[in-house]
Amino acid sequence: MPETTISKAYKAFFLGPKAENAAWTGAEFQAVLDHWFNWRKGLFPGDPPISTAEERQSAPYLRARAAMTEGLETLTELLSHEMPKYTPRYIGHMVADLSLPALLGHFAALLHNPNNTCRDASWVGTRIETDVIAMLATMVGYDPAKAHGHITGGGTVANFEAVWRARFRQDHWLSLALYLAEKRGLTLPLMEAGHMGWHRFGALLNEYDVRLDDLRGYSGIASNPYAFGERMTAAFGLPYRGPVLLVPENKHFSWTKATNVFGFGEESFWPIALDDMGRLNIASLQEQIDHADKAGRPITMVVSVAGTTETGKIDPIDRVQDVLDQTRATRGWDIWHHVDAAYGGFLCSMLRGPNPADALSPSNTAALASISRVHSVTIDPHKLGYVPYACGAILTRDTQAYAVSSFKAPYLERQLEMPDKWSTTLEGSRSAAGATATWLTGKTLGFDAGGMGGVIAATIGACRQVKDRLAQLVPAFRPLEPTDTNILCFSLAREGDSLKAANAATEAMYDRFATSPDFAVSKTTLGVKSHRLMIERHTGTYDGPLDDDHLVLLRMVFMNPFWAEDKLRDQLSEELATFLNT
Ligand SMILES: *Cc1c(COP(=O)(O)O)cnc(C)c1O
Repeated sequence: MPETTISKAYKAFFLGPKAENAAWTGAEFQAVLDHWFNWRKGLFPGDPPISTAEERQSAPYLRARAAMTEGLETLTELLSHEMPKYTPRYIGHMVADLSLPALLGHFAALLHNPNNTCRDASWVGTRIETDVIAMLATMVGYDPAKAHGHITGGGTVANFEAVWRARFRQDHWLSLALYLAEKRGLTLPLMEAGHMGWHRFGALLNEYDVRLDDLRGYSGIASNPYAFGERMTAAFGLPYRGPVLLVPENKHFSWTKATNVFGFGEESFWPIALDDMGRLNIASLQEQIDHADKAGRPITMVVSVAGTTETGKIDPIDRVQDVLDQTRATRGWDIWHHVDAAYGGFLCSMLRGPNPADALSPSNTAALASISRVHSVTIDPHKLGYVPYACGAILTRDTQAYAVSSFKAPYLERQLEMPDKWSTTLEGSRSAAGATATWLTGKTLGFDAGGMGGVIAATIGACRQVKDRLAQLVPAFRPLEPTDTNILCFSLAREGDSLKAANAATEAMYDRFATSPDFAVSKTTLGVKSHRLMIERHTGTYDGPLDDDHLVLLRMVFMNPFWAEDKLRDQLSEELATFLNT
């Protein structure tokens, strides 16, 4: 088991559960405010002030101020009843204490309110966004000089951004195939057409002297999608049922939303089965690719997950990409691979720097290291990046994969002169605060094993230590093994308990947690239909009959860095054990 090593200085990066760093933090917030005040005072010195000292003492003025003071008091009083998520006792969802650089970076930009939708509305914020995308690209192993991306409102939107791009790309290829079939009497094999790649696309345009604008009327997006379907059926001689997305059963709900929003229809959402560890099953991926081939359904994208929302699992990204590379070598198909690393993206920081952290298994490390090989990745700084909401990111490994929206294909390897972002982002107005918060975290803590990676490695170590302690102290404790990251899931069962009985005990414990002020935990339910092998393996540890259609798990997310403190962890682990035993 890897040792929990974490630099003592990590504590300087968080306020601390007792506001230990309050004095310094207060001074830094004040420094940001002073800078903002002086900035205003210094600009346009010739402009007259809008109020006098006398006016500021007038009754209406004082009444207005009193109203704001009172309103703010009400608001802070209301917020004092907010769920305390800074404390290590909060292990409910994927959020913990915010880092100080993230808070300060967010606050500093907030005062200037840049809108990163275009450079006119954000002179500095847009530059910082470009910088931060390069920092995140380096973290996941992309070449920062080639990668593109932007900050989004979260992982859901970032996943949508990837679907938008993959669909854009495939639509170009299918449009050309339809054009060639209808106008030139050349019928390419459908599946070859749907995955032809930009290189072949460019070559065909040249060979048949087709202009991009000619293709507009042959696009399923730019023209009429229903007519497109009929014409595809006529051109290719089998009923055209549209493309599919291959997404593992451990997926986040945002994928169902994406098929809805983009009009694919939920039927086009083909599941990839899971193995007994709850990770994407490679054989099932292979089967679904063959199945799509037989059914004549072009594959818009294959998704794998790094850090599943329910249990923190990491899919074998390297082996998925191997399958796709193989498919490309044998069939000539270029299939988009997206990694949903909304939660796990920052795990990659452990792999960077002179002394990588070894908190993950070799296979999980290999999986994360392979994100560098895929087309696009979603990362949420507002989860494992300790950055305030709302801050997600979409990254693509190159310019071609970033292209979207305007009907211009990047089939030539030219660098797009990057236009203002508004035309390439689903969202319109976008705050710069997520970018500045992430940027300041990267510049100070650093996205490598010496900084963020060390903090995260310590949380993974702490999660294992808590698991080991609970295993010693709580007879009914049944952890869902293996624990890949810092999310601990378990059920409560006695030897020989049926799944129904275990679920009832686990549910009852969850209800007790829900009414207790001492800890905040979460609960998750895995269906036997989607997670059969994993659930069989789990119930096998207590030899219980599988008599229910789902498994209930208590879920604890150990991303709060203070769990790395021995004294605090020992105390809270004992408390947890006592709670679970009562
Ligand atoms: C959280 C999560 C999302 C969605 O991200 P939001 O920021 O909540 O929109 C998508 N995928 C995975 C794997 C996640 O954990």
